[in-house]
Amino acid sequence: MFLPQEIIRKKRDGGVMTAEEIQFFVHGITDNSVTEGQIAAFAMAVFFNDMTMDERVAFTLAMRDSGEVLDWRSLNLPGPVVDKHSTGGVGDVVSLLLGPMIAACGGFVPMISGRGLGHTGGTLDKFDAIPGYVTTPDNALFRKVVREVGVAIIGQTASLAPSDKRFYSIRDTTATVESVAMITGSILSKKLSAGLDALVMDVKVGTGAFMPTYDKSVELAESIVGVGNGAGMMTSAILTDMNESLAPYAGNALEVRGAMDYLSGRSRPARLHEVTMALCAEMLVLGKLAATETEARAKLQTALDSGQAAERFSRMVAALGGPADLMEQPDRHLERAPVVVPAPALKAGYAAGCDCRGVGLAVVSLGGGRRRPADAIDFAVGLTELVGLGEQVAVGQPLAMVHARTQEAAQQAVREIQAAYQISDIAPVINPVVYRSIRP
Ligand code: URA
Repeated sequence: MFLPQEIIRKKRDGGVMTAEEIQFFVHGITDNSVTEGQIAAFAMAVFFNDMTMDERVAFTLAMRDSGEVLDWRSLNLPGPVVDKHSTGGVGDVVSLLLGPMIAACGGFVPMISGRGLGHTGGTLDKFDAIPGYVTTPDNALFRKVVREVGVAIIGQTASLAPSDKRFYSIRDTTATVESVAMITGSILSKKLSAGLDALVMDVKVGTGAFMPTYDKSVELAESIVGVGNGAGMMTSAILTDMNESLAPYAGNALEVRGAMDYLSGRSRPARLHEVTMALCAEMLVLGKLAATETEARAKLQTALDSGQAAERFSRMVAALGGPADLMEQPDRHLERAPVVVPAPALKAGYAAGCDCRGVGLAVVSLGGGRRRPADAIDFAVGLTELVGLGEQVAVGQPLAMVHARTQEAAQQAVREIQAAYQISDIAPVINPVVYRSIRP
């Protein structure tokens, strides 16, 4: 018999909780037998006194087991069930590329994605920009698409890790989100409930990253790799740059267009390609679909060049209710914003720094993200032709093209983009796109 207040007291005093105590507490989060005040106190105690690796694994597994855990074994899939998760970014369309690329290489990707948070875009919102695409299919359709196409990208369901939903909303309002132990549990409980064999985590670093410093990103990556493997899911992490938008575009329908251009080969921006290939290659090796990174990269390039990855994307869109000719006729289906204006550079020089968070917030203020959870999104708006760090601009040359609903919104975004870029006389040192991998 446990008492919530005694578990909180133990953690408050720096003790180590047993797996049974953690399971009891998480059970109480799920069935409401633990109060909001107790959860807040627990979160604050963990915030200050942290959790050991064993506590983190027990906490993550308890959160996973608070709801449904998907099981793919009965489908006898002829390949591993794998996925990627990212801490969130701007112009990060990797999920739209990676799912079809991995499927074309023999993996199965049941990707349960989220909405945009703060300045970051959400994969789910991008798919909502495709008319007819159902992001909340029933379980039978989700399984059918994963089996037949190899990839289905859908939205979070209430039945997976419900304890995290309650716990996160309380952390969010009690200044206890920023704890590596609790972030690890929150992310991995949801990924473990998807029944994955392997996960690759993309931990962002830079001015648009969720974690505030490089060291904190490393700490989170190491925690996720330790807990993921400790919980029985092969997990590795890659630290990637988010000091500027990953793609030269950001905004929901614009990112869908960009993803299709990438898959069809019309345009493969270098930074986006580098991060996508690194994450995909790691996943193929983890899932034993390739023996080495070199072999993995060769397979992925073939999947792209042969059109097989593009074909998987088209089939997934059609299977989930979207238009069958989206790849061929994007303009028939994806809305364009009525106002498109340049954001001119105010001085000449090199793009030396970028407040990537500011760029993401410019998309939000155009209507491409939410100010409040219930807000509707304007899928058409956003930015294209974003100048990359290190590029030279002349006075008046566009830092980006702004796609807006109104002239007024466009002018506001122009000011925000101008403020986000730092223009210097000296060429900047360019950040690597991929910093390092963290493996068990
Ligand atoms: N994303 C999550 O899903 N959970 C966290 O705690 C932080 C970011």
